[in-house]
Amino acid sequence: MYLGADYYPEHWEKERWPIDAELMQKAGINVVRLAEFAWSKLEPEDNVHDFKWLDEVMDVLNKRGVKVILSTPTAAPPSWLINKHPHILPLLKNGQRMAFGARRHYCITNRTYYYYSERIIRKLAEHYKNDPQVIGWQIDNEFGGPKCYCDNCKKEFQHWLKLKYKTLENLNQSWGNAFWSHDYTSWEEIPLPIVDYHNPTFDLDFRRFFSDMTLKYSNMQIRILKSITPDKFITHNFMGLFPQLNYYKLAEKYDFVSWDNYPEKLENKFHIGLAHDIMRGLKKKNFWVMEERVSYIIREDIIIPTLPPGQMRLWTYQCYAHGAEAVVYFRWRACSFGIEQFDSGILGHDGTDKSISYREAAQMGSEIRRIGPQFEGSKVVSPAAIVYDYDNVWVNYAYQERPMYNYPDEMLRFYKAIRKRGINVDMVKSTDELSKYKAIIAPLMYIVTDEAADNIKRYVEKGGIFIAGFRFGIKDTHSNMVKSVLPGKLEKLFGLSIHTWDNLREKKVEVKDTEGNIYQADTFADLITPKEAKPIARYNSNWYTGHTAVAVNTFGKGRAYYVGCGLPQGFYDRFIEKILPGLALESIKVPDEVEIATRGKKGKRFVFVMNFSAKPSRIFLKKKYTELIKGERLEEKIDLGPFEVLILM
Ligand SMILES: [Zn+2]
Repeated sequence: MYLGADYYPEHWEKERWPIDAELMQKAGINVVRLAEFAWSKLEPEDNVHDFKWLDEVMDVLNKRGVKVILSTPTAAPPSWLINKHPHILPLLKNGQRMAFGARRHYCITNRTYYYYSERIIRKLAEHYKNDPQVIGWQIDNEFGGPKCYCDNCKKEFQHWLKLKYKTLENLNQSWGNAFWSHDYTSWEEIPLPIVDYHNPTFDLDFRRFFSDMTLKYSNMQIRILKSITPDKFITHNFMGLFPQLNYYKLAEKYDFVSWDNYPEKLENKFHIGLAHDIMRGLKKKNFWVMEERVSYIIREDIIIPTLPPGQMRLWTYQCYAHGAEAVVYFRWRACSFGIEQFDSGILGHDGTDKSISYREAAQMGSEIRRIGPQFEGSKVVSPAAIVYDYDNVWVNYAYQERPMYNYPDEMLRFYKAIRKRGINVDMVKSTDELSKYKAIIAPLMYIVTDEAADNIKRYVEKGGIFIAGFRFGIKDTHSNMVKSVLPGKLEKLFGLSIHTWDNLREKKVEVKDTEGNIYQADTFADLITPKEAKPIARYNSNWYTGHTAVAVNTFGKGRAYYVGCGLPQGFYDRFIEKILPGLALESIKVPDEVEIATRGKKGKRFVFVMNFSAKPSRIFLKKKYTELIKGERLEEKIDLGPFEVLILM
């Protein structure tokens, strides 16, 4: 199993390289990612290539048994290239061209940039194609912007729209261009969305377009690498909950997904878990963490303190618990110059092995070497899933009701309630095969396509449990409001209708469930009129009184729930406990600060028990377990130290 570091040898004198390699070997670091932003060192002048330094450092690493993932360096075009072709720089929304001096400074549709990218990638691939030390490629770095508003992007966007809508009449109608006299009379008139206050359909299509252009650029790189080095894996470092790209589409052609995990606070464990689960869901397989935070970071708007001993190890195990096959720490050594000079590394600026992070990486190295093979390749099996798709993410980010709620927070309400019970959760598209899940949850699912509606109906008919959050099915695929009675296509499935709703940002509204529990509703309220459905909770304040807040309907062999408003976490905890009985890990009782996640292979189950607290905690085991890291037999009352991790079998 690999445990790695992101290494930038070009930042250090070459006399240092053997010392780094020796320290890596001592810590059990057996893979590094190289050359990520090294274009100016790999091609110091136009078409003059220098791979000698990279060959040399790789030889040094090879002697210590360290394998290599090579990056294509395209996230940082060098100064000579920009100077020669300044139009590679993106034109920003404010009309200014981005200046040279940071990174990701290229227009994603620029043909000249394609030419130079292809050439450096080809050269690199040819040079290393027969080198077994190079196990794979990372393409570019953290795709996602900046968005460019240049003339070429405008032409590409118009072309993209033409392919999609075929006729202007169709586009004008689909976009609702009768509104504010927005009808276009030629494709060339269609602008880029520069103004902030524009049509939501326009906004959604531009997001889809930008995502598709990124996909096209990524596919160009994949094509070259696959043709020259078919035996090496190809991945890209994704960014968890990053909302600007359709990650499902982007992930399709990679061998596996990897991602950059920079957790901020211990109490955000579910937030990080959710991001891991989204990453696993992109290809429905295990993933790598390509950048894992080691300790403090100070940048303009981020201040993260030094991690106390044990916390880096805890977060590393959380990666494995959610399906990571390898973890690569960012970065090997804190850099003394550049914008990231206040970021930590496994080694500090002084390069000694005395840092907390080095000690902890070495502990991880020795533990993973010993126990990693046991759970390597094991799968995360989940009985429940949350619907996560990018059209729905994007319509929630567009103007309109955005300030009232955000997509991750609405997912987290349900996610926390399930995870707290030790139940794994998958992230799925609404059109995926759903039959293997006991329950599917769809928070903030504005857009319900015909295909998704049929899929959900089939799933519930055959015995599935479907839970919708508020605002279900309010929009069509053009981001226009549907004209039917809500919840639109699935009115029969839910056995209810919704004619009135309200936002609760500044209102206090009480909800009372059929057992007499009283909750304060928040965020948004769909006022439900049940038909066949049975109320589970009703509104209990002013003019809302009498309307249903939460309802359930039996449909075929299954049930469909509608949760019409935001409620306190206690509601979701009780709700999930009631409707998903028997799924929780009843043999282990843990307090709130402890997270449980499981992986399994060949009939063996590995239960990761992680104390997300700087204080001791206590768990109770109702049966005997063997603990994998220490090899002890455990039962009954177990005291956990701060940040302690157990892997129970
Ligand atoms: Zn452009």
